[in-house]
Amino acid sequence: METTLRGVGVSHGVAIGEVRHMGTAVLEPPAKQIPAEDVEREKGRARQAVEAVAADLTARGNLAGGEAQAVLEAQALMAQDPELRADVERRISVGSTAERAVYDAFATYRDLLAGAGEYLAGRIADLDDVRNRIVARLLGVPMPGVPDSEQPYVLIARDLAPADTALLDPSLVLGFVTEEGGPTSHSAILARALGVPAVVALRGATELAEGMVIAVDGSSGEVFPEPSTEHAERMRASAAKRRAEMAASAGPGATSDGHKVPLLANIGGPEDVPAAVEAGAEGVGLFRTEFLFLDDSATAPSEEKQLQAYRSVLEAFPEGRVVVRVLDAGADKPLDFLTPGDEPNPALGVRGLRTLLEHPEVLHTQLSALARASEGLPVHLEVMAPMVADRTDAKAFADACRAAGLHAKAGAMVEIPSAALRARSILQEVEFLSLGTNDLAQYTFAADRQVGAVSQWQDPWHPALLDLVALSAEAARAESKSCGVCGEAASDPLLACVLTGLGVTSLSMTAASLPYVRTTLATYTLAQCERAAAAARAADTASEARGAAHAVLSGE
Ligand code: PEP
Ligand code: MG
Repeated sequence: METTLRGVGVSHGVAIGEVRHMGTAVLEPPAKQIPAEDVEREKGRARQAVEAVAADLTARGNLAGGEAQAVLEAQALMAQDPELRADVERRISVGSTAERAVYDAFATYRDLLAGAGEYLAGRIADLDDVRNRIVARLLGVPMPGVPDSEQPYVLIARDLAPADTALLDPSLVLGFVTEEGGPTSHSAILARALGVPAVVALRGATELAEGMVIAVDGSSGEVFPEPSTEHAERMRASAAKRRAEMAASAGPGATSDGHKVPLLANIGGPEDVPAAVEAGAEGVGLFRTEFLFLDDSATAPSEEKQLQAYRSVLEAFPEGRVVVRVLDAGADKPLDFLTPGDEPNPALGVRGLRTLLEHPEVLHTQLSALARASEGLPVHLEVMAPMVADRTDAKAFADACRAAGLHAKAGAMVEIPSAALRARSILQEVEFLSLGTNDLAQYTFAADRQVGAVSQWQDPWHPALLDLVALSAEAARAESKSCGVCGEAASDPLLACVLTGLGVTSLSMTAASLPYVRTTLATYTLAQCERAAAAARAADTASEARGAAHAVLSGE
């Protein structure tokens, strides 16, 4: 009997391969006393670990070549430094374990470097990495950071920071599974952008044995340790069939009876545009501009730099619609020069539009850059504000757009329940709504989107969230304005049909999800989507809602 582990599927597809663990930061080894007869053995262990790490760094340098080789060779030399070695041995002689002696000797060396001028202080991270590698080897735990593997593997981690995800090589990482993290955490969003199957919030993920073969289904969230050959074949075959269907899918988004639902892409900058175009996006539904600001969190990028980035995105969709979200700083995306550092509860603090209204010059520069970037282009530019709470917020944003000479539709994101409840009043000030279901779930269920332990509450299938979506869509229809979804909810194919049934007018998602949503939407009529939506709203829990919608659409 095969075991099935269940987490939350956040990036479609199937991955079958060997487990490799992401090494965690090395913990401080306990300060234990060793008996005198163990001293020589401990010294031998320390010497061996140092040599092995130095050899490994040199070998990796030879493979990498160029600048990376110079850095890795310098690290190998640090590991073999004679003074450090003498210090380690001295500490072992007075009763330290090998790992503790390495840890303490490096700490002394580290303090010396820190006080020795800017250049040497800059080498501290390299020194820490060498120390972590030696200590990890002595403790017999995985090396810190992304695994060094030349064979493709399935990556297992407690959680992945955006910085880790950026280091992953998509040609080696078949997929990934994390113990923590919710479906709307920014690391899950970045994983989807990488286009590899992924499952998050899987209890026990970090206990899967290194080297064990597992099969990951990024759609259902299931993980099968040591699947039988037949099972693995079946999964591969159905994934290949699905991929072929996807490759054949093209054209604008619509239900089977022709009700149009434009399918747009979520992007973080010009580098995401080619994938969006290739997936057939009809435009951009969410341009997360904060990625432009995160490069250097000490100052805002200049108007010129912003103008170039915006223009290259706008030019890629000549007749299309491009919805740019103004800077959403704060909470999980803090910026040194804008975000207060002392908030007890940053997600409930000064973030999004609140930050911009406190720093009107930052908003004005961004809106002016957008106005200039769109000059002379046929594109349909729309600009929206994150974290709008009510009509006063919406008016402040619309006024700022006018003051910057922007000839674009101004819109409000619905991310706070108050905005959904007062959608009609907000629409007196702006031209469109866009539902940010990630934050809307966070604030509706009081569940921090970065905390894996409450990830069951970040489920956009919950009928309470569907009610807020319905309220917003109904308000937009009454005002003859549009109401799209740009949160991760739009990338779940079944939920996309339900959102359509609730009256949402466009769906925006990571490029990799577009073909899945397009093919599923094209399978059902608008009336079927409406019935599925009604059934989901009549349920009491997220899983009942999902089951009810599934039953309606599959005709069970
Ligand atoms: C959202 O909250 O749903 C959203 C689209 O914005 P972000 O994920 O960038 O906070
Ligand atoms: Mg948001």
